[in-house]
Amino acid sequence: MYVARILYPVEVLGPGKRVGIWFCGCPRRCKGCSNPELWEFQERYKTSPETIFKLVQDIAKDNPIDGFTVTGGDPMYQPKELQQLLLLLKDISDDIIVYTGYHKKELEPYMLDNISVLIDGEYIEELNDNSLLRGSSNQNIIILDEKQKGRYEYYLQRETNRIQNFFVVDGVVSVGIHRPDF
Ligand code: SF4
Repeated sequence: MYVARILYPVEVLGPGKRVGIWFCGCPRRCKGCSNPELWEFQERYKTSPETIFKLVQDIAKDNPIDGFTVTGGDPMYQPKELQQLLLLLKDISDDIIVYTGYHKKELEPYMLDNISVLIDGEYIEELNDNSLLRGSSNQNIIILDEKQKGRYEYYLQRETNRIQNFFVVDGVVSVGIHRPDF
């Protein structure tokens, strides 16, 4: 599998302090995509679900993990590996958001396993309305896990869209739903 980035604590893509995991690889190439550097499946980012889980376990030793946000790239281009990883992550938290450019109806049922919230649909720059969690108004925030419904309804009513910058070894990673002119 190909994973380019893990960041903690991500506080702008779901409730609480989350581990953000960025898959690499997405042939969709939406205009205005905020992560074009993750479109290619790059060999240097080749890894395994077990390796990613070990990194997450290291974070969990000293830090609270309220959930996971898995994005990219598009994780649904690596659906089997994604499921292997989600099964491991569920041991730590079963609050798992997954982003995809596919529509839910295009996905096979197994691809939705272990996901609590799916944010689906391609990004359309002209429909970016600076919303919380979704990049453009055509996308859907679908709560798949009934247990998470109240928590997410509260979060979506209460929070506003924010950006969070992480300083990393080779620069800055700006996380969140950015305006088109970012
Ligand atoms: S689906 Fe997401 S990652 Fe892929 S090109 Fe569109 S916005 Fe970028």
